[in-house]
Amino acid sequence: MAVRAFGTHLYEVRTEGGDYLVDVGAGRCTCPDFLFRDARCKHLRRVAIEITAGRVPPPGHVAVDCRDCGREVYVPNARADGHHYCDRHRLVVGDTVRDRETGRRLVVVAGPDRRADAVDLEEGTVTDHPTNEAYDPADAVVGAVYPGGRITADGPRPETLRVYAFPRSRLRKVDSEPER
Ligand SMILES: [Zn+2]
Ligand SMILES: [Zn+2]
Repeated sequence: MAVRAFGTHLYEVRTEGGDYLVDVGAGRCTCPDFLFRDARCKHLRRVAIEITAGRVPPPGHVAVDCRDCGREVYVPNARADGHHYCDRHRLVVGDTVRDRETGRRLVVVAGPDRRADAVDLEEGTVTDHPTNEAYDPADAVVGAVYPGGRITADGPRPETLRVYAFPRSRLRKVDSEPER
């Protein structure tokens, strides 16, 4: 039996005996067992197993590609248009990243949040900044600091604590473990 998502709520189950459509939310299948014998058929069970195993998207979700590695991730249908990343490449506060433009390392302190063309800097939005020309305006914005913030006898040095805003795709996540 091969299962694939058919739209956002149905699943197509291909079997040697025929192809059926399963609506797992409503608990319905188009096979004769379900229709005429009122049985919870093997197709319904199989779809549930495939969803639990993460081999097909759950109802209301669609499969999209991680923007860093192309691996499939399942996101709610309503958010399918955004930019998505797999667990390995999704940024969270505390992650170390490298700026693709300068090669410098930073630490994520905020986001990813709003679109880069909706976040204002001193002059224009994140998208308008000349070094961000190559990046998609729909990118989420990530706030990051350069490591080595210093507190001197006179208090914190403001320039070492400043948060810089980057389009998400300008940053590459640095693995804590070396790449194989
Ligand atoms: Zn069935
Ligand atoms: Zn990825």
